[in-house]
Amino acid sequence: MIPGSFDYHRPDSVDAAVALLAKYGDEARAIAGGHSLIPMMKLRMAEVAHLVDLQGIGDLKGIKVDGGTITIGAMVTQHELIADEALAKSAPIIREAALQIADPQVRYVGTVGGNVANGDPGNDMPGLMQCLDATYVLAGPDGTREVAAREFYEAAYFTARSDDELLVSVRFAAPQGGYAYEKQKRKIGDYATAAAAVLIGKDGGKCSSASIAMTNLSDTPVCCDAAAGALVGSSLDGAALDAAVAAMQEAIDPQEDNRGPVDFKRHVAGVMLRRAIERAASRA
Ligand code: FAD
Repeated sequence: MIPGSFDYHRPDSVDAAVALLAKYGDEARAIAGGHSLIPMMKLRMAEVAHLVDLQGIGDLKGIKVDGGTITIGAMVTQHELIADEALAKSAPIIREAALQIADPQVRYVGTVGGNVANGDPGNDMPGLMQCLDATYVLAGPDGTREVAAREFYEAAYFTARSDDELLVSVRFAAPQGGYAYEKQKRKIGDYATAAAAVLIGKDGGKCSSASIAMTNLSDTPVCCDAAAGALVGSSLDGAALDAAVAAMQEAIDPQEDNRGPVDFKRHVAGVMLRRAIERAASRA
């Protein structure tokens, strides 16, 4: 289908983009890679009178690994995430997860900002960013503010970002210890039936820290503190894994759809989490 007509704007600075979003309010939408927004416009599920293209804004690009802090510009593509060696060394879970997003064609164009700002429960980066306890930097008419990824998602396609704010970057501390991103999908290029992001720290044979977030098992990503808590202090034995999976099952709320019925999704979620914990533990 052909989308409705719209005015196209191509600002060259964050301030100019924010000014356009503020001027046109809910009639305006930022467009990054367009791989989520354009299909929605073609299906007429999104009516956008003013498209604000972010491709010309240099300040939204680039990956910085500065000591223990990593900052990723909103317009960094998933391909650039995979290709960046410094990032792969400091936060290898990013490459592991990004390689499981869509296919190379989509990853050449789809951006980190579009993936995390969209609020689509199927997107892989929001859960990953919750697992990393990342911070989102938002620019609006009154300046910038920061929102934790764990506080950002309110419901499917509803986030803490207001219409006149732009997501500028994502920041997090380089994770320590072992990591794993496990995703089950129906076929290459598909969104997750269930996915698990896991970080594990170990000290003297015991789990000293853990972080767990699940994808596409609720209308927001699910950061599972209780599941992580079930691992900390344990030797990551079978009983601890059972307790973590049981706690995760309490936190998720999958719905039946073309990826399967609820019981199947719960089963797959358990398998993904167990595998991710075991792999993260083996790398810790
Ligand atoms: P756009 O489509 O340009 O924007 C998406 C939304 O975010 C829009 O509402 C837009 O206004 C808003 N937005 C964009 N940037 C900003 C910003 N800086 N500040 C504020 N708002 C902003 N994703 C996955 O995670 N996993 C998958 O397995 C997966 N499979 C896919 C398969 C196919 C065939 C396709 C087409 C897409 C798939 N995607 C998947 C989605 C893909 O990763 C998208 O690129 C991504 O979700 C959105 O990024 P984008 O840059 O294209 O954003």
